[in-house]
Amino acid sequence: MGSNLGDRAGHLERAVAELRLGGVGVKRVSSIHETEPVGFRAQPWFLNTVVEAETALFPIQLLDRIQAIEIRMGRRRLLHQGPRTIDIDILLYGNFRIQAGRLIVPHPRMAERRFVLEPLAELAPELRHPVSHLTIRELLATTPDRSTVRRLSKSPNQQITESPNRP
Ligand code: ATP
Ligand code: CA
Ligand code: CA
Repeated sequence: MGSNLGDRAGHLERAVAELRLGGVGVKRVSSIHETEPVGFRAQPWFLNTVVEAETALFPIQLLDRIQAIEIRMGRRRLLHQGPRTIDIDILLYGNFRIQAGRLIVPHPRMAERRFVLEPLAELAPELRHPVSHLTIRELLATTPDRSTVRRLSKSPNQQITESPNRP
């Protein structure tokens, strides 16, 4: 999950609460990481976190559920990869590989994103990527992404001190 508009930590916290209300059993939440935008760089820094969850929802149902949460939380799709109140992506779904029109799992860009790999490695360093079969720790060690990722707090439920957004 990521947020780079408004009360970023509050948005992450609310997204976890909304997932729980929507039938997603959130088991663990990583520390919040403050991360430099990649791709479209002229936007505020993000707060990112990764959650581990159990669910009886099928992958497409889970995607529907998270897209409903994004809309409820006021997300507007103005710019692809642009600023957003909340972005929730499915990184992995067990060991499954999914190629539906609307859903690709594992998330196709996760291995190129330090802002994904660092919080994910905190939860599951020895987990193996279902396609490359590399562990998350190995993906992190070999990712070419050199963008800045700073760990801010143990958990989004803890009070964190917001640093001002960079221009
Ligand atoms: P990126 O996918 O590179 O992180 P993004 O999150 O900004 O970019 P969105 O505009 O949020 O992209 O999503 C575009 C579409 O991606 C969604 O409508 C959804 O159908 C599709 N999609 C495909 N695979 C996934 C996935 N694993 N998790 C979430 N959305 C996905
Ligand atoms: Ca995304
Ligand atoms: Ca998304």
